[in-house]
Amino acid sequence: MLACNFGKLEEEISLVNNSKAQWFHIDVMDGIFVPNISFGTPIMKIFQQKAEKPLDVHLMIVNPENYIQKFADLGSEIITVHIEASTHLHRNIQKIKSLGIKAGVALNPHTPVSSLSSIINDIDLVCLMSVNPGFGGQKFIENTFDKVAELRNLIINSGSSALIEIDGGVNEDNSNKLFDLGANVLVAGSTVFKSKNPTNTISKLISG
Ligand code: ZN
Repeated sequence: MLACNFGKLEEEISLVNNSKAQWFHIDVMDGIFVPNISFGTPIMKIFQQKAEKPLDVHLMIVNPENYIQKFADLGSEIITVHIEASTHLHRNIQKIKSLGIKAGVALNPHTPVSSLSSIINDIDLVCLMSVNPGFGGQKFIENTFDKVAELRNLIINSGSSALIEIDGGVNEDNSNKLFDLGANVLVAGSTVFKSKNPTNTISKLISG
């Protein structure tokens, strides 16, 4: 939703409600972990009230442990924290799960998939950043394809049921390949909201 028009947020939410998209992906940025500030809990409250699909909340913030409870109270179905922002990642995951919420871990482009090997069985989702987090509209980083394949192997070999989510630069040129390699969830912002017909773009991204 980072790429939507916040001046008409309710219309944008209703567009997604009426599309084939399955989740709302909500990027929370603090201006410290990433260069930009996006929005905080007042906007999240509007998603909670108006969105009719699960809220997939991606915390691009330092000290995410201080905000897990707050975003849980605001209707998150999935909360994803960054491995690079979590000194005590296992504790953060347990905290999210203790609130009855699915726990995700996000990796920046430079962070190897192998860094998840000790935690992969404890998490519900891995978010692979396919751009450097902090801005919408960036170009897809090609080595993400190899990371998806590697992550899929890790998940299969460990018996984990974690979903693979790709976040950044997803478009109609790479979506099929990502699904073929094992991605389960594609996040699309600018590709959808800057297109002439966002509803059709969502359908195309899903069906290939
Ligand atoms: Zn995100």
